[in-house]
Order: sequence, then structure tokens, then C-alpha cells
Amino acid sequence: MSHSASTRVQEFIGDPFADESLLPQEKLEEIFTDIQSDMRFDHELNGCLNCGICTATCPAAHYYDFSPREIVQLLWTENLDGIYDAMQEKIWACAQCYTCAARCPFGNSPGGLIMIMRETAIKHGMESAKNVLRPFSRVMLKLISTGNQLSPDMINPEHFADWGPNISKVDAPLKLLRKAIPMPTLNTTETAWEVNLKTSVELYTIWEETGVLDQLETVDENLFDVILDIMDEKREDWEDWQDEQDDDD
Ligand code: SF4
Ligand code: SF4
Repeated sequence: MSHSASTRVQEFIGDPFADESLLPQEKLEEIFTDIQSDMRFDHELNGCLNCGICTATCPAAHYYDFSPREIVQLLWTENLDGIYDAMQEKIWACAQCYTCAARCPFGNSPGGLIMIMRETAIKHGMESAKNVLRPFSRVMLKLISTGNQLSPDMINPEHFADWGPNISKVDAPLKLLRKAIPMPTLNTTETAWEVNLKTSVELYTIWEETGVLDQLETVDENLFDVILDIMDEKREDWEDWQDEQDDDD
């Protein structure tokens, strides 16, 4: 049977009879090699009975079209197309709770393997990674600029419009609540707590050296540029502070 002329349906959902992969074979192999060569891989995957205990205990599997057993099987059988396909959506359903790792009779960590696949998706700049991480860009910006992941001021419908209707239920007197917490550093709603300049600068070095910032550049170049500016500013502030101390001595 010939399938050379594609129908409108095939254009949207693909041709189930087509032999071609979603990506060239070399690219699929490159992605799998990156996953497999991660130093955690051999520790997280020892074999797989296909028993499904991981899926039976997985909270995400109850709510999504997602099965850790399926992901582990794809990796164990080196199903390159299936691995790539799972990286488009399914791997992002995992809640990283590691219940699966505690239950697997083989000592596998499906959650750990999924973490490696996610990092690989980021490294390859996959669209799925960009889409999933986009809503977290303001959290990342807050983390880099203040050393805090989330401040009370951010918990409002404006910041989290895309996080569903529940965020609009947060209508607490934040300033009053903050004052009620008897620590002077918490008398603010702009930061969760104060992080000193030296710690911030040290964190930048860690993020640079461990490749976190390279990953950020791959998934969100604009945010990467903004964050570089913030880091430069903070480093200058830190140097100025050190110079001031030297002058005082
Ligand atoms: S770590 Fe992920 S795959 Fe494992 S049980 Fe939790 S949600 Fe499921
Ligand atoms: S990963 Fe472990 S629990 Fe899950 S199907 Fe394989 S052997 Fe069973």
C-alpha cells in the first residue's frame, strides 16, 4: 500500500503506517546517548520486570495519560522513537515524588530517570521543555534577583494568571501576616527572606560552573540576558562593598 500522498488527517496526526521517524536516526541516538551517559543512569536503571508496581503507586498516573512503567520500558528496550515521543509531553507529568523508587523490586528510580530525560530535553532545547518552563520564568527571575523562589507579593492572580482559578482565592492581608511573624527579616512581602550579597554571588558561580545558566540560555534567551545583567550588577555591588571595607581598614 502506498502512503506517499498525505491526507489532511495525516498532516495533523501523522501517518501510522509511515516508516520515517519523527527525527533523523542520528539525532534520536544522540538524545539517547545523552540520557544513557548521565552518571546517574546506571544507578537508576537496573532492569525492568514490567510489573507495573511503579505505575500502580504513582500519583501522576492517576490523573494523566502517564505511566512510569512505560517510560522505564522505553529506556530498557532502547526504543529511541518512543523515548523521543515521551519527551514531548509525558515526562512532564511526573511530580518527582519518588514513590516509584521506593517500591520498585529492581531498585530502579523511574522518577530519577525522568529527571535525566527532562534535563536532556532542556539541553536539546526541545519545544516541550520551553513550554513547560515558560510559566516558571518569573520564579527564576525572582530566585536570581533576590535569592528567594517566591515572595508573598507574587502570590496573586496577576502573577499566576495561567496557574488556574485557585490562585484568585488567595486574598490574604499579607503585610499584616508578615508583621505577625516575629523575625525582623520577614517584615517584607517583597522577599521571602533576606539573602546577603556574598551568598548571591556565590550562587551565581555555582549556576555558571554547573551549566544551569547554559541550560537557561537554551530554553529562554531573553530571560538569560536579563539575568546576566542582574548578576553583573550584584557582582559590582559586592566588589564595591569589599572596596569600602578595605578603605575602612
Ligand atoms: S516520581 Fe514521578 S513517576 Fe515516580 S511515583 Fe512520583 S510522580 Fe510517579
Ligand atoms: S520500573 Fe520497577 S516497578 Fe516499574 S515496571 Fe519496572 S520493575 Fe516494575
